[in-house]
Amino acid sequence: MKYCYQCGRVTAGKPLYCNSCGRSYNVKLCPRKHANPRSAEVCSECGSRDLSTPQPRVPVNIRLMALLLSLFPGGLLVAVSLLIAIVLIHELLSNPQWLLALVPLVIAVAVLAWIWSELPLWFRNLVRRLLRRKRKDGHE
Ligand SMILES: [Zn+2]
Ligand SMILES: [Zn+2]
Repeated sequence: MKYCYQCGRVTAGKPLYCNSCGRSYNVKLCPRKHANPRSAEVCSECGSRDLSTPQPRVPVNIRLMALLLSLFPGGLLVAVSLLIAIVLIHELLSNPQWLLALVPLVIAVAVLAWIWSELPLWFRNLVRRLLRRKRKDGHE
C-alpha cells in the first residue's frame, strides 16, 4: 500500500504507479519499469527518454500549508488562537465538569474583587487615624 503525495490517494499492494493520477512514487520509471533517480533525464539501463513523472517529495497539502504560513504568519496566529478559543468554549459547553472546576476560580476572583473594593475604605480609615493622632500631637 502506498500513499500518493500528489493526489492524496492510497494504492493497494506494492504499486509502481498511483492508481488515481498515474505518478510513480519516488523514482522515474521508463516503459520497461527500470527505476531511475528523480534527476534522471534518460533511463540508465535502456536509454529511453520516456520517463514517468514522480510524485512530489512532500505532500501537496503540507506544501500549501507551508506557503500560507510564510505568506500570513500573523493571520494564521489569529486564526489558530480563534480556533483554540472556539474549541475551549465548545468543551466548556459540552462538558459541565469544566464548569465545576471553574467554580473555585470564580470564587477566588470574587474574593479578590471584594478585597480590592474594600481596600480604599481601609486605607481611608488608616489615614483618618493618622490625622487624628497628628491633631492630638498639635494640641499637646
Ligand atoms: Zn496519485
Ligand atoms: Zn529503461
